[in-house]
Amino acid sequence: MPAKRRRWPWVVLGIFVVLLAGKYFLLSRPAAPGPEYVIDLAALHSAAVAAGGALPQRIEVEKIGEFSFPRTLVVAGEGFRMHQMVLLAHRVVWPDSSVVIDTAMAPAATKKMPGSKADPAAFDRLEAAMKKANAIVFTHEHVDHVGGVAAAPDFAAIAKKVRLTREQYDSPKLERGEFPAGTLATLEPLSYQGLYAVAPGVVLQKAPGHSPGSQLIYVELTGGQRFLFVGDIAWTKDNIRLQTGRPGIATLLMKEDRPAVAAQLHALAQLPPDVHVIVAHDPIALDDDLKSGLYREGFTD
Ligand SMILES: [Zn+2]
Repeated sequence: MPAKRRRWPWVVLGIFVVLLAGKYFLLSRPAAPGPEYVIDLAALHSAAVAAGGALPQRIEVEKIGEFSFPRTLVVAGEGFRMHQMVLLAHRVVWPDSSVVIDTAMAPAATKKMPGSKADPAAFDRLEAAMKKANAIVFTHEHVDHVGGVAAAPDFAAIAKKVRLTREQYDSPKLERGEFPAGTLATLEPLSYQGLYAVAPGVVLQKAPGHSPGSQLIYVELTGGQRFLFVGDIAWTKDNIRLQTGRPGIATLLMKEDRPAVAAQLHALAQLPPDVHVIVAHDPIALDDDLKSGLYREGFTD
């Protein structure tokens, strides 16, 4: 009997070691970068102007809602305090046309997120903007980016403008159940190789990693300002600044290709400072950008 009792310290130690290893691999350790990811600014500029026609005048943003995640899910190894995140939709504006970039989620879906707050009036303005837009494009196919389309009360009115890429449309991460029955079948996916100008000054470049359908959206304004919408490659600019992405548990929860994302974070850190990187969920970067007048809050008529 005494021999049996002596096994317990080893069992406890074993559990402790497993928990420590789990914390290290799932929450603390950032991924090492995979093969180099190239962002060729000269090629993006050429594609932006080669599309022919006037470059856009300005960018607008709507904050559709907010939520929060434990910080260590956002930046590997950064502890469990809650980290605030925003749900945004952007609009690129010409005098007589516009392109919507990402559509957040409807208020009912937003309320299911942890620590969330929804702005139904902002969502209504987004719905109106989608109807007026020439095109609606997405940094990727996750529901907090395509949800505004899935929840559109008049889907037929926007179907022709929705430019889901072939990779986004076919992705297992596109939550088909969120779309009303039959609506997805009415969309025509966009197939492209290399760079694709969806409008003068708005260029797409594939960036699979966070999801199979992730892409960069480069925007160049008539005044020469350059923007790069990077979606959820980073959840906060700290991912780029610290060169630390999400932890290993992201691979389990989201099937993220973390080495690919790490290589993209490296490429983003090399960009010149006049290329304004817009990450989808960073409230501090949003405030900074609005204060410095890079773009304005609210979709105007
Ligand atoms: Zn997102």
